[in-house]
Amino acid sequence: MSTKADTLGVVVVGAGPTGLLLAGDLAAAGVRVVVLDRNAEPVQTPKGNGVVGRAVLELRRRKLLRGTGLRVVRPPRFRFGPFTLELGLLRSPLHVLPVPQHRLELLLAQRAVRLGATVQRGREVTGFEQDGDGVTVQAAAGGSPVELRTRYLVGCDGARSFVRKYLGIGFPGVTSANISRLARVTIPAGAVARVGDRIEVRGVGPLVPFRPNRTGHGSITIAPADALDRSAPDDVYIVSTHEPRGDSEPTDELSDDELRASLRRVLGADLPYTTAVAARSVVANSRHAERYREGRVFLAGDAAHIFSAGGSAINAGLLDAVALGRTLAAVLRGAAPQAELDAYQSERRPAAQRTLALTRLQVALDADDETGEALRDVLGDLVRDRATARRVAALIEG
Ligand SMILES: Cc1cc2nc3c(=O)[nH]c(=O)nc-3n(C[C@H](O)[C@H](O)[C@H](O)COP(=O)(O)OP(=O)(O)OC[C@H]3O[C@@H](n4cnc5c(N)ncnc54)[C@H](O)[C@@H]3O)c2cc1C
Repeated sequence: MSTKADTLGVVVVGAGPTGLLLAGDLAAAGVRVVVLDRNAEPVQTPKGNGVVGRAVLELRRRKLLRGTGLRVVRPPRFRFGPFTLELGLLRSPLHVLPVPQHRLELLLAQRAVRLGATVQRGREVTGFEQDGDGVTVQAAAGGSPVELRTRYLVGCDGARSFVRKYLGIGFPGVTSANISRLARVTIPAGAVARVGDRIEVRGVGPLVPFRPNRTGHGSITIAPADALDRSAPDDVYIVSTHEPRGDSEPTDELSDDELRASLRRVLGADLPYTTAVAARSVVANSRHAERYREGRVFLAGDAAHIFSAGGSAINAGLLDAVALGRTLAAVLRGAAPQAELDAYQSERRPAAQRTLALTRLQVALDADDETGEALRDVLGDLVRDRATARRVAALIEG
């Protein structure tokens, strides 16, 4: 039986970027916080390549980037679906932090622990019950059950959130009819050359980096890994194909044969790579939790929202963490009434709804049909106007 003295302020489920920033902020405010993650070790599989938007300023404000060599950039142009937003050289409204996600997570975990949070890995949350005073959380640790008592519980446990499902909170939205197959591939120097703003691949031809190259059979995106992570070897490229999904299910382990076959279908030729790592396939989803709070339990990050176009997800999750950390800390130290807890959902749900609209628009703009053509035709004209482009960028900023 736990006593009041054992009761934690907050238990966070999930040591992704959202949960780790939240834990650090709560610890900084003097809250006793424990993060539980089912993985025994941080996952090294490449995921996000950077943070885009206002969350970058929040990271900088917390001095997270100091001494890391990481730099915030304000790009003069930025991709939005098939368009390039021309934002101008001076005071671009958009902040971008190029950083591999696993490095961001390491920095956030170090900060959280330094400030007093506890991060327990190899602990999978399997259930919880809430009452008037708090939440009792059950977890499995190497086959043995453990129990924690906390005032509040936050599910930062990703798109397939256990916490969300356990609460019975719906996650309506849409699943894409396309599938993306992605990997980090090594292309020997003799088979590839960076020529101006193109990547010239032997047997394939020129490809524009960082954006989909349409081929009539889908599209391929290619980017030199060292453009995103300076420590990456210069013969490594991040490639992804995008094709109609058919019966294919997304998988965390894609065979080399499947990757090569997809590249051949899309390119009509073989991509001359020697090895591929971290190959997998993903199907884009665009979904929003019906609510972010059920009594003393909250949802944040991918557990609350997932977007069909890249670049906005970490920003949205980190901004959730900032808002929820501020609210929970204020209520826990008695500076705000319990009723204030609803402010989190009132602030963040409309923001995520706007990001959903922006990302769905990007998908619609990329559609290979007459509607996509019409949208590109009309909106392409509009975003050529600098003021409109900056307005769109300000919406992406969040
Ligand atoms: C290939 C790829 C590329 C991407 N690129 C970008 C990008 O460039 N920019 C961008 O903004 N976003 C990108 N994203 C999306 C981004 O990775 C996610 O939005 C981000 O990881 C969400 O963070 P999170 O902390 O909310 O959840 P997650 O990072 O998913 O973390 C959830 C954590 O919860 C843990 N967990 C789950 N269930 C339990 C349980 N029952 N008990 C305990 N622990 C549990 C998991 O182990 C995991 O560590 C990309 C995603 C992919 C797959």
